[in-house]
Amino acid sequence: SPILVWFRRDLRLGDHPALTAACESGRPVIPVFIFDTVAERLGAAPKWRLGLGVSCLAEQLSSAGSALVLRQGDALDQIQALVRETGACAVYWSRLYDPDSVERDTKVKSALKDAEIEARSFGGHLMFEPWTVETGAGSYYKVFSPMWKAVKSRDVDTPLSAPSRIPAPDAWPASDNLGDWALGAAMDRGADVVRPHVRLGEAAALNRLDHFIDDLVERYDETRDIPGVDGTSGLSENLSLGEISPHRCWHAGLRAREEGKAGAETFLKELVWREFAYHLMHHTPRILTGNWRQEWDAFPWNEDARLSEVWAWKKGRTGVQFVDAAMRELYVTGRMHNRGRMIVASYLTKHLMCHWKIGLDWFADTLIDWDPASNAMGWQWAAGSGPDAAPYFRVFNPVTQLDKFDRDRSYVRRWIAEGQGNPPDSALSYFQAMPRHWALSPDDAYPEPIVSASDGRKAALDAYENRDF
Ligand code: FAD
Repeated sequence: SPILVWFRRDLRLGDHPALTAACESGRPVIPVFIFDTVAERLGAAPKWRLGLGVSCLAEQLSSAGSALVLRQGDALDQIQALVRETGACAVYWSRLYDPDSVERDTKVKSALKDAEIEARSFGGHLMFEPWTVETGAGSYYKVFSPMWKAVKSRDVDTPLSAPSRIPAPDAWPASDNLGDWALGAAMDRGADVVRPHVRLGEAAALNRLDHFIDDLVERYDETRDIPGVDGTSGLSENLSLGEISPHRCWHAGLRAREEGKAGAETFLKELVWREFAYHLMHHTPRILTGNWRQEWDAFPWNEDARLSEVWAWKKGRTGVQFVDAAMRELYVTGRMHNRGRMIVASYLTKHLMCHWKIGLDWFADTLIDWDPASNAMGWQWAAGSGPDAAPYFRVFNPVTQLDKFDRDRSYVRRWIAEGQGNPPDSALSYFQAMPRHWALSPDDAYPEPIVSASDGRKAALDAYENRDF
């Protein structure tokens, strides 16, 4: 009888321990993807991107002589139905760590065990299982540097090759049609504008990793902070959906370090930032929903997402060039450079004193590399409410940041059309992407700052100084 391999955020064939174990069992393998309530709750862009990823995986499986069976509904109901229909004796999957997935998977595992069906979860999404990394005192890490020290010399599993053969069952169970799920329905910005910026699937991710290691990592230390330069790996989108494994990136980084490539160590560190975010989410899932430092509950955050300032921020019309360029990059590409993320998050939470959850939600709706753990850690870091956070008084000045990180203004010119005689296509594509009711035009005057850098900083610091916590 066959084994079901339940794909979720592990849309690849290579370095996939669950798939490899199923193929090595000698039994027929039935790959499955279920559009369940966890996937239903995704924001517009991540859900759309998931649809592209699932479609790409289905093609890969079909080229490998297999297929992807699609089902919609409660995950447990669907798995039980598939077990009945196919006579499967086991279900394998790669572990996830966000509370919704953990709750679902725990329920599935216990129901399958009760029915005497083998239920096995495998690693693959993380290099270091969160419960295997402990401080000397037996607790979890709240600060990055000691966590880095604790794991940097650990052995990380060598990436597995894709199975040479995925044994097919005699008969395939019925499958939904991906198109019927309309995973892109909530994208009210032009998906056709965002689509060329997507790096889709395992093969594209592996190519990008090679290019990054061959040509870019050497200068990563200098270029990774310059948003106008293509200097980072750009793999967050693929890591988020598991189109590439962190193990594969780690081993490529290790090799580059052995070859003496300068930025390799920093790249390895960044991969551990991702692990750190998962470590925090595992040990303190409240990081997703509320101030990690609970004393911040007393801060006078503005929580009204309908404020005109919030809309100016979302639309890239704050009149502050670095903020607006980054917000437009997000809107057009579904991604934003890390420097931009830090600046727009600092501006929203400090200059505008808006609750970080407003920003977290907007990112969760618009990013194609959305990741629950990294997004929450990033926002709480920028707001000052997180564990290893920037101190509140360190307010990014978006004007001096521009002089430092976009000296030639190439990033600003790439994304802001207003005021340019002959704006580049990238800046114009923002106006094609936006919903019509935003009613903006590249011929509009560029706005005056809605809050000046110094006034915003002062208001935020006053509120912080006068805090009663
Ligand atoms: P590279 O510089 O090439 O780094 C390699 C990999 O390391 C990345 O792909 C990513 O997986 C990991 N990494 C790098 N920096 C970080 C970091 N600060 N935190 C966690 N992991 C990191 N990252 C997401 O993947 N999804 C998100 O939803 C997300 N939201 C963020 C929100 C805010 C407010 C902030 C400040 C940061 C957020 N980040 C998020 C982290 C970071 O901005 C992105 O991972 C990075 O910009 C991705 O680009 P890259 O793949 O070229 O990174």
